[in-house]
Amino acid sequence: MRILKNIWSRLHLYLLWALLSFFLWGWIFTMITDTSAAKKVTLFISAYDVQDTELAAVLEEELPEGIKMVQVHPFSYAMFEERTILNADLFLVRESEIAGYRDSFAPWPELAETASAADCYLIDGQPCGLRLTHAAAGTGAADSCITYWVEGEPREDYYLFLGVESLHAGAVDNAAKEVAEHLRRMEERAVTTDFIYGVDASSVIAEEASGVRYYNFDGVEQDVFQTLAQNGVTHIRVRVWNDPYDAEGHGYGGGNSDLAKAIEIGQRATRCGMKLIVDFHYSDFWADPSKQMVPKAWEGLSPEEKADALYQFTRDSLQSLRDAGVEIGMVQVGNETNQFLCGERTWDAITRLMRAGSSAVREVCPEALVAMHFANPEKEGTYAEYARMLDEHQVDYDVFASSYYPFWHGSLDNLASLLTDISTTYGKQVMVMETSYAYTVQDSDFFGNTISSGSKVDRPYPYSVVGQSDALRNVISTVRDIPGGIGVCYWEGTWITVGGSSWAENSRLWETCGSGWASSYAAEYDPNDAGKYYGGNAVDNQALFDPTGHPLDTLRVFSEAEGPEP
Ligand code: CA
Repeated sequence: MRILKNIWSRLHLYLLWALLSFFLWGWIFTMITDTSAAKKVTLFISAYDVQDTELAAVLEEELPEGIKMVQVHPFSYAMFEERTILNADLFLVRESEIAGYRDSFAPWPELAETASAADCYLIDGQPCGLRLTHAAAGTGAADSCITYWVEGEPREDYYLFLGVESLHAGAVDNAAKEVAEHLRRMEERAVTTDFIYGVDASSVIAEEASGVRYYNFDGVEQDVFQTLAQNGVTHIRVRVWNDPYDAEGHGYGGGNSDLAKAIEIGQRATRCGMKLIVDFHYSDFWADPSKQMVPKAWEGLSPEEKADALYQFTRDSLQSLRDAGVEIGMVQVGNETNQFLCGERTWDAITRLMRAGSSAVREVCPEALVAMHFANPEKEGTYAEYARMLDEHQVDYDVFASSYYPFWHGSLDNLASLLTDISTTYGKQVMVMETSYAYTVQDSDFFGNTISSGSKVDRPYPYSVVGQSDALRNVISTVRDIPGGIGVCYWEGTWITVGGSSWAENSRLWETCGSGWASSYAAEYDPNDAGKYYGGNAVDNQALFDPTGHPLDTLRVFSEAEGPEP
């Protein structure tokens, strides 16, 4: 017993000693390792578009311990004057967002031109960013510039600024490298995600002018292009009519879709990271298999003269889009040209026009794809004939594009078989340039719809949001499985009711803003159709947004089709 007691009392001492030394060594260890490198870092990132949001999400997950991130939108100079409000130690801001404030930051450091190799951040031997002058922190100038290169090409720069509390250079460098690494990974992923998920949004400007507002899935009003981009849309399609106005300047309707509208839509799409598909109708109003009216200004021209005019119009329009900073991914030479284009019906004349348009695209937008667009795959033998004629007449194009409306255009199997034949025979890429489906039989704007409960058309899916989603999902998976299948574009997904409570109220908006399919002013140009049936929106029940501008679940199909990141 006595021995045990003795041991017990000593054990107390041993334990006390062990405890004390544990704390002592712990304290010493902390003193050694607690350099400023271990300082907590909060990163502020601008929230300009979907890419920034994605970057923020990735960084939040993956940044090393100690680096926290705050994301704010919109960016303002006041944030820099009151940096402590955001409680961020580092600020990451996109070049395009800060461009307007450059004068406020003095001196703005010179970039790559004066950089020495020692100032470059390298990842796997590749330059990914540039250390700017840390000494300039007090002046408000950027401390690091992160440019990321993909396949030798520099992409947009992000700038990294110090917060109020100055960090040592190493911490800034580490954060910069970390961010650059993530930017590069994101960009590599984006490069591999090259399937085109398009939405035609040609009527958006006229819709907004009519008072239409668009919301995101959280019910928050925001730019509809941002909502589309956030849901996996990669391309915005826009039609271009030469001169959709009467002599007094009244618009024909259908979005009054002239070049100016295309530029505005293209700029907004580009800002959200999407590319534009330019859809030249070479008409002053709707062109489709049943009508290809020649523009007023080209009336009476011979096919040769018309080809010259078409070349110039294409070249000048694309140049204007480029000059306005629009990213052009694809250009259509004609819309639903079933052996009929710009008033011409012979293959000689049609292909002459196509070659003229194509050469203008190659000249101004060498990086864009050239598409020829047809409709009615259900008509036996026609697609094979079109493809053969393009080949025989040496039309230079990349994409054989088809409309596919399940109501009228036969089965998906038939479409897949036709497009497969063309892609394998002629080595062309293929896509569905227009598709849509009704999510309801209800009309919402007092102007009857093309598809209603009594329509005698094919109805492979129910007229519901689920039916509409299935229709789009099946078109996408079909095209993805076709060799050379590169994309699917949903037609006029943003064209909804202008929201008035009577026909008269809506009619006033259709006439003044061009938000209906045709205004009365179009009668002079298109007397047999617009002249008789002008009015509102005949496809409001096929949009991707409900009558109040809130997205339908069908809009989620694009990102679902892409699937989770590997
Ligand atoms: Ca309607």
